[in-house]
Amino acid sequence: MITLWNTMSGGKEPFSSLEKKKVGMYNCGPTVYNYAHIGNLRSYVFADILKRMLIYNKYKVNQVINITDVGHLLGDGDEGRDKIEEGARKEGKTAREVIAFYTLAFMEDLKMLNIDVHDIKFPRATEHIAEQIDLIKTLEQKGFTYKTSDGIYFDTQKFKPYGKLGNIDLAHLKEGARVTINSQKKHNTDFALWKFAEPHEKRQQEWQSPWGVGFPGWHIECSAMAMKYLGETFDIHTGGIDHIPVHHNNEIAQSECATGKEYVRFWLHNAFVNMASSGIGSGEKMAKSAGGFLRLADVVARKINPVSYRYWLLTAHYRSPITFAWEPLESANVALMKLVRVYSELPSFGKISKKWLEKFETHVNNDLNTPGAIAEMWNMIRDKTVSARDKKATLNEFDKVLGLSLKTLAKEVFALAKTDKKIPDTVKKLVKEREIARKNNDWKHADELRDDILKQGFELKDTENGTKLKKV
Ligand code: AMP
Ligand code: ZN
Repeated sequence: MITLWNTMSGGKEPFSSLEKKKVGMYNCGPTVYNYAHIGNLRSYVFADILKRMLIYNKYKVNQVINITDVGHLLGDGDEGRDKIEEGARKEGKTAREVIAFYTLAFMEDLKMLNIDVHDIKFPRATEHIAEQIDLIKTLEQKGFTYKTSDGIYFDTQKFKPYGKLGNIDLAHLKEGARVTINSQKKHNTDFALWKFAEPHEKRQQEWQSPWGVGFPGWHIECSAMAMKYLGETFDIHTGGIDHIPVHHNNEIAQSECATGKEYVRFWLHNAFVNMASSGIGSGEKMAKSAGGFLRLADVVARKINPVSYRYWLLTAHYRSPITFAWEPLESANVALMKLVRVYSELPSFGKISKKWLEKFETHVNNDLNTPGAIAEMWNMIRDKTVSARDKKATLNEFDKVLGLSLKTLAKEVFALAKTDKKIPDTVKKLVKEREIARKNNDWKHADELRDDILKQGFELKDTENGTKLKKV
């Protein structure tokens, strides 16, 4: 049996899907005006583990991650400039260039974390304007909207259960909120469905609509795209906990008012990656706008394997906040490399240990208890009653869920170790630098380094089994 913590009920529930052995899952995606920071990436590692666990339990998973490329405002509410337009202005690029660049960077980050991007749909908000307009039209026809001087708004008073996700204290939300610039809103919790283009300013991204030229609000895109690809009611919706009070309650309100049906059956949220209190960004959640912004590329630049970041995340439960510091990440890297070494020394063709598999499954099926699963993995490795062959087979089975790609890592680490002895330190350093450049997709620098290595008398070959060096 699988149990999952559903934010809607505030407790663990046995999981079942709407359709037999098929799951529809929507993960709120990135706003592509900047790189994803490693905190954002926790959301997608979490979604990936969830998907792998479901596949392991013989479900087919239809996974959707949206790309927010319009409508997310700097104020996170209905005020402030559009993050994409602002990003383009700052970088002196077009909105399209900014979107293309950071979407690609996001995909590369996912790949480095062993997330299979070919298996995921990535719909873009700007490519679903018609669907968003249709949804707003339905809401308008049903009487859930009103117009102000800057847009079309959703009237949250008309949806009685508004705030039901996470039992939001609406009175408190009102008191605590900043004085809103838009005094025409009837209630503080109302939100923009369509915003009119600013009269004195030409936007790069704007569209015609029944209400005039403008652009969709951030919340409506998720409802429109989720329902298009997964149906009016679907199984799982995820995001970081910051999305509970506003974004996800807004998605529920507009979707359920439009269809009259339950929108999502299981709501799952991951806790934050926070910054260590003594370091940069001190004690706060990692955020794109704040100091202490760390990317996966920063991890790689420290010579830490990106998969070690995944491993480190898995050593904490997804609902527990985790504090980032370099030391624990470096320890996770050491632990993962040890695991890879152990793995690569085990012979193949064994059988899966039933006893250990059962223990492992109990943990992952229990609301994704990955720390428990990882602890059992090490216990299994230490178990003298399991043969070396069977250990390897069992590790391969565990890896289907954990996604550490032990086989691939073993090849990489092994290939480097083999060439290690006869090669001068200067060349080794260049090889490592080139690995980093390749991981960062800096092909130009990688090629320059290849030439430098050649000048030192070594030829590089990138093979299926990793990078190899030959003396010339
Ligand atoms: P954004 O690109 O800002 O729309 O966020 C992408 C995802 O990252 C969302 O699911 C957020 O809830 C999540 N998120 C934002 N900050 C953090 C953080 N510090 N730790 C974990 N998840 C985060
Ligand atoms: Zn969303």
